[in-house]
Amino acid sequence: MYQMLIDGELVDGSASLEVINPATGEAFATCGRAEEDDLQRAVAAARNAFPAWAALSWTERSVYLNALADGIEERGEEIAQLLTDEQGKPLGQARFEVGASVAAFRYFSAQEMLPRVVVDEPTSQVIEHYSPVGVVAAITPWNFPLILLSVKLAAALATGNTVVAKPAPTTPLSSLLVGEVAAATLPAGVLNVIVDANDLGGLLSAHPDVAKVTFTGSTATGKKVMQSAASSLKRLTLELGGNDAAILLDDVDIDDVAPKIFNAATFNAGQVCMAAKRIYAPRAKYDALCDALADLANSAVVGDGHDPATAIGPIQNQMQFDKVMDLIEDSRQIGTIVAGGQRLNRPGFFIAPTVVRDLPDSARLVQEEQFGPVIPVLAYDDIDEVIERANDSEFGLAGTVWGKDVERAVEVAMRVRTGTVWVNKHLDLRFDVAFGGVKQSGLGREQGDDGLREFVETRVVSVAKA
Ligand code: NAD
Repeated sequence: MYQMLIDGELVDGSASLEVINPATGEAFATCGRAEEDDLQRAVAAARNAFPAWAALSWTERSVYLNALADGIEERGEEIAQLLTDEQGKPLGQARFEVGASVAAFRYFSAQEMLPRVVVDEPTSQVIEHYSPVGVVAAITPWNFPLILLSVKLAAALATGNTVVAKPAPTTPLSSLLVGEVAAATLPAGVLNVIVDANDLGGLLSAHPDVAKVTFTGSTATGKKVMQSAASSLKRLTLELGGNDAAILLDDVDIDDVAPKIFNAATFNAGQVCMAAKRIYAPRAKYDALCDALADLANSAVVGDGHDPATAIGPIQNQMQFDKVMDLIEDSRQIGTIVAGGQRLNRPGFFIAPTVVRDLPDSARLVQEEQFGPVIPVLAYDDIDEVIERANDSEFGLAGTVWGKDVERAVEVAMRVRTGTVWVNKHLDLRFDVAFGGVKQSGLGREQGDDGLREFVETRVVSVAKA
């Protein structure tokens, strides 16, 4: 049985949880699960550990965080295998996620936030100091359980906060293994990892001893977090849903761009917040793009993430599977399915990569976040029109623009209202570049200098000089 980490101890907790392998639909492991008492102990432990952890120098904390990174790296293969078991993703991608997590701890622990002299005049000196906020609740979703957790932990811990982490209940195991490594490498209480049955997030984000919530998940849940956090005016970072447009300009080479767009839409079985979720092609190239994407969908290898041939794994859980199938059925009524359109005839939550054309903009598949390997392809007639349609969304996470004339593509990118726009590439995320959404895709940023700043308060010390 996999255990939780509370106050430096690996514990079973008051309840247990069965974890399902989405490639089989069967439970394959059991882990400890928290009830309210366990959550209270975890928050109390983080609160007690805070003063000593915050008092360490950045360098002292970085020694601990590098030990944590080394420990994760040593158990990297075990963690990657478990990530594929619980999440479904191809093993190569799970290994990459483990490597990125290790790199996140190393990167953020090396970013010292030194005090900044803002004013230095004959009569006055003003210095900004950066101090940690306190206990941070880190709440994560099931699509990239390990890297999303690690980026939060690395930034929160490096800046001197202590953490209670709560992974999504369908993918708790990789987070619990990070907890196991932390039990041997970090002081007690600095990191606590608890598991719930999707029932403790509200309590955690309303807890009076939690100073900040860093949350990644859906926009609907993000709104609930914002509401609970209001009780004690907590600091908040919300990384929420997206409905990213991919805009192809009229000079693109379809043979070159189609595989990149297909990958942007179906990587991690489309369960990526910044996946390409609506594809807009100029009318003259519309048929060619639909045909090329359909060919790619028909030849993609969908299967168990442990099979080396697999490019696309299953949907992570039954609820999401049902939601994506429902969107496919809705699209079948009003559009034309040119590839896929059905579940695979095997156990597990597999959906054939699906390409849908001729949908109206009002279609649910165009308006909503599908979070699955289902690609709506839409035609446009002029640039102003396509930009307006791309921006006509409550989401504003990211997007892509594709064109041979890079200057023109950048001009279009500048008019897309999202936190990130990639030009002729996708998914280029870096620890030194801030990521986050505008509109209902989120609040605040992760990574980069902006991301680190989210975990500190600025303390201004203003001194009169003699
Ligand atoms: P979700 O919102 O259902 O759950 C996310 C987490 O919130 C889980 O740990 C869940 O247990 C917890 N939770 C549930 N109810 C809660 C409550 N009332 N208060 C606090 N926490 C609560 O999201 P999901 O289905 O696990 O993940 C998919 C979503 O995440 C998609 O919308 C996707 O776009 C988004 N996402 C965003 C980013 C980003 O960086 N912007 C990255 C990955 C995923």
